[in-house]
Amino acid sequence: MLSVTEALEVVLREARPLGVETVSFGAARGRVLAETVRADRDQPPFDRAMVDGIAVRAASVAGGGRLRMVGEVAAGKAPRVRVGPGEAASVMTGASMPEGADAALMVEHTVREAEGDREFVSWPAPGTSPPPAAPGTGVAWRGSEIRAGTPLLAPGIRLSAAAVGVLAAVGRVRVLVRRRPRTAVLSTGDELVHPRTRVPGPARIRDANSHLVAARCRALGLPVHRLGVAPDDPAGLAAAIGRGLAADVLFLSGGVSMGRFDFVEPVLARLGVRLLVTAVRIRPGKPFVFGVCDPGDGGRRTLVFGLPGNPVSAFTTFEVLARPGLERLEDAPGADRPRIRVRLLAPMRNPGPRPAFLPGRVSVGAGGELAARPVRSAGSADLGALAQANALLVVPERAGAVPAGAAVTAVPLAGFPDAGPVWKDPRG
Ligand code: AMP
Ligand code: MG
Repeated sequence: MLSVTEALEVVLREARPLGVETVSFGAARGRVLAETVRADRDQPPFDRAMVDGIAVRAASVAGGGRLRMVGEVAAGKAPRVRVGPGEAASVMTGASMPEGADAALMVEHTVREAEGDREFVSWPAPGTSPPPAAPGTGVAWRGSEIRAGTPLLAPGIRLSAAAVGVLAAVGRVRVLVRRRPRTAVLSTGDELVHPRTRVPGPARIRDANSHLVAARCRALGLPVHRLGVAPDDPAGLAAAIGRGLAADVLFLSGGVSMGRFDFVEPVLARLGVRLLVTAVRIRPGKPFVFGVCDPGDGGRRTLVFGLPGNPVSAFTTFEVLARPGLERLEDAPGADRPRIRVRLLAPMRNPGPRPAFLPGRVSVGAGGELAARPVRSAGSADLGALAQANALLVVPERAGAVPAGAAVTAVPLAGFPDAGPVWKDPRG
């Protein structure tokens, strides 16, 4: 039986990155970038007014001044005026600075007067005290923020919404990203019926696992093919698994324990899946199976995860052992990321011989520290307890009592961490 660390090593070794593909920038969020994205031009691409106001020569207003208005420049318009000594032009935020001007002064600090058909502007307006004007005041010079060719996004990052904004800004409507694994999900067991079954027959239960695994894969941004439920007989199982081997990753659940009708392992072996892990020292989830189907003749290489039938075990082994493999297939950073340490708010125990990964709720304490409370669980079929959790708390094997206040390792789940007690305005 392998330790969690050993099993994870096998999974990560076999999860070879799948290569690259091109996608539209609108579909790029959440994908792992596979190229360097650079600024296509200087930013700003022209000398840009940063305020609504007047463009002037700073020298014209040293100690204040009254200037003649010679025109106006709106954002998006090429300036058609030239500003000379003693002159000013209206500019809008984001407009290109007119030739001759080297400062943009805020409209709030100016006052205008008409004189016949001529218009004048005084700065500073009476009652205002703006900072002194100097060349560059209120102006972002061309290229002052970023030079054309500067790298903005490096390969290996997962593209955020802000990164999609960068792609848009530099005109990268197609971008090279890492290919994501296509997943297939299959539950096994003669006792399973579809969740829409109103009254499951005696000795029947609804299939939770294929739905929970499919939902988790979708949350990770992966395409999912649900294959339904396979029976506990070798022929039916082989047919369903054969369909699943068209995916990059096949998730099975159930049929991997020691029961008389647990046929998953022999059927996988007969279909050419090399079984590399057949049990792991983990609680819950010991009967976890991992293998690789590699036809070698250019056929698709498929990683096969045989998750335990017990839904809590299936979920736990998915998070701890399979998810890092999915990330490695996508060549995502941190597939083997360090775990997070949290402080326990209540004691935990694990007298057993396997490390336990137990549901917990982690929140941000008043001082910003992460604090964990174990979620009360009725055992390893209690999916409801897991649904309350935002972390798995790791309690080492044979840890008699881990006291409140001790630090334990947490595997973050969705919703990690809680923002903490609801914020209340102290002034009421
Ligand atoms: P097995 O590994 O097939 O022996 O299953 C272990 C336990 O998990 C049994 O009590 C099964 O009924 C239960 N189980 C197996 N598959 C599922 C599933 N897809 N949804 C809910 N419970 C399941
Ligand atoms: Mg079964």
